[in-house]
Amino acid sequence: MSEVRAGVFFGNGKFDLQRFTRPSPPPGGMLLQVEAVGMCGSDLAQLDGVAHVPGETSPVVPGHEIVGRIFAKADDCESPMAVGTRVAVDQVLRCGRCSACQAQRPHCENMRVYGYGFGLDEGAGLWGGYGEYMALKAGTHLAPLPENIPAAELTLFEPLSSAINWFDKTGLVPGETIVIQGPGHMGLTLTALARTMGAGKIVVTGMGSDRLRFEAALALGADAVVDIEDKDVREELAAVTHGAMADVVVDMAPGSTATIPLAVELARPGGRILLAGLKHFAEVEGLVSDLIVLKDLSVFGGAGMTPASHRRAAELLMAGQLPTDVLRGEVYTLDQLDLALDMLARKVPGKDAVRVGLVHQHDN
Ligand SMILES: [Zn+2]
Ligand SMILES: [Zn+2]
Repeated sequence: MSEVRAGVFFGNGKFDLQRFTRPSPPPGGMLLQVEAVGMCGSDLAQLDGVAHVPGETSPVVPGHEIVGRIFAKADDCESPMAVGTRVAVDQVLRCGRCSACQAQRPHCENMRVYGYGFGLDEGAGLWGGYGEYMALKAGTHLAPLPENIPAAELTLFEPLSSAINWFDKTGLVPGETIVIQGPGHMGLTLTALARTMGAGKIVVTGMGSDRLRFEAALALGADAVVDIEDKDVREELAAVTHGAMADVVVDMAPGSTATIPLAVELARPGGRILLAGLKHFAEVEGLVSDLIVLKDLSVFGGAGMTPASHRRAAELLMAGQLPTDVLRGEVYTLDQLDLALDMLARKVPGKDAVRVGLVHQHDN
């Protein structure tokens, strides 16, 4: 069949399923048969047209946590990867020449992002993981993925790529205590990675509504979980660490800024803080910067992945070193897109998921 379906976002809170003609690979590029796409909290902002990625456009086929198989290659495609190879797509198409690219920083100055920055009016319009097929431009970074893990679990490569980059920046020495604020799919991925890296105590904090996510955190190797609406996390952490507090605090709490001053309190003197949860440009109330000075803290920002961390995430999955099944969450088909988006927004009464994803069904 040469007809392809895809979910489309219009940037005004509306979405639809549309039919497209299956495209040919673009010059020097490939056509990918998409197997699965992870859904990210940022997809909801994108649905409403709240831009946070350079070049973001609409209408667009969204989806940036993409796993698929190479279906066809252009005659002039220079990639050595064979048709049929299962790959993780690095959603950032980089120029390779700017200062950020030269320094291996996540955000290329000329970057274009699959699922965000290529609209329906460009080529065949299929440039995101919500489509059953998508086109890949020449120069797209791809990393091979294992065959023995379901595609719906392998979409983990995307948060994992960022997590690896962030721990590279912040450092995590085996035996160190880490606090992860926010048990969403990113926080849980960081939990799993911290465990494989030999962290000492791992403490995950969240809210009363995070019960299911707390269970997952414990299954992934967290030593303690703290509902900050119910307990004083300073006291809980002091008890777990015999007063030493955290070597590393990672803030992945979505939306709320209250966790930023809290991170400063939870870090030990000389400790490190990684800020990676976006707050929609809200100002942080209650932050006493003197504490950062007097406690001699280091504060890092986590922007995303690099080509190197993308490759290493795929290698970690190849090595089978992560409990991907715990992180799979709920998986839907394109026909259930409305339900999937409601689950992502945590709007389905009585039901929560550690992660939400889509799988595409293909006959071949
Ligand atoms: Zn994402
Ligand atoms: Zn660049």
